[in-house]
Amino acid sequence: MPPVAKVLHAGDPARMDLTQHLRDVPDFPKPGILFKDITPLLGNAAAMRETIARLSRMDFGKVDAIAAIESRGFLFGAPLAVQLGIGFVPIRKPGKLPWKTNRVEYALEYGTDTVEVHQDAVAKGQRVLLVDDVLATGGTMGAACKLIEACGATVAGCAFVIELDFLQGRKKLAGKQVQSVLHF
Ligand code: AMP
Repeated sequence: MPPVAKVLHAGDPARMDLTQHLRDVPDFPKPGILFKDITPLLGNAAAMRETIARLSRMDFGKVDAIAAIESRGFLFGAPLAVQLGIGFVPIRKPGKLPWKTNRVEYALEYGTDTVEVHQDAVAKGQRVLLVDDVLATGGTMGAACKLIEACGATVAGCAFVIELDFLQGRKKLAGKQVQSVLHF
């Protein structure tokens, strides 16, 4: 039997325009920021399923665990981990994790912030895929990468649902494999 070419139909998830499930909110949380609101996407099971499917098809080589950043990263990282059949590691703001933690402090526009992970969350030599909803300036993901590497693991890559190309966040992630479902 000759191979049957895959024909995409209008109802095929692969053709779904996921941008239709995002809402732009101007001047949130402060003037000048165009906030990408993912709540319509979260509210639509078919769009969420397709988002997770597209993340799961990204090739980062062997991945042993997914780590995601509080809190919106969790919404995509945990279902992606289930889809890939691997464990999920939460990266959290300080003081939230109950067990012993490793931490990394990083610079914000004004001041600093900190991210933490449980010391036993990732094993030395593991390849960890980091996930977040939006890549903006890359500061948060850069800190998350440092944190995972401080635990002795390797960053397999960084996966985002949305990348704001004009902010050039991937420059901060130089040397890392970066892939995003949607670009603006
Ligand atoms: P970054 O500047 O890459 O460190 O972004 C920090 C965090 O803020 C990301 O994890 C995003 O969840 C969030 N974020 C930044 N810019 C936006 C935006 N325009 N719309 C929605 N979320 C954003």
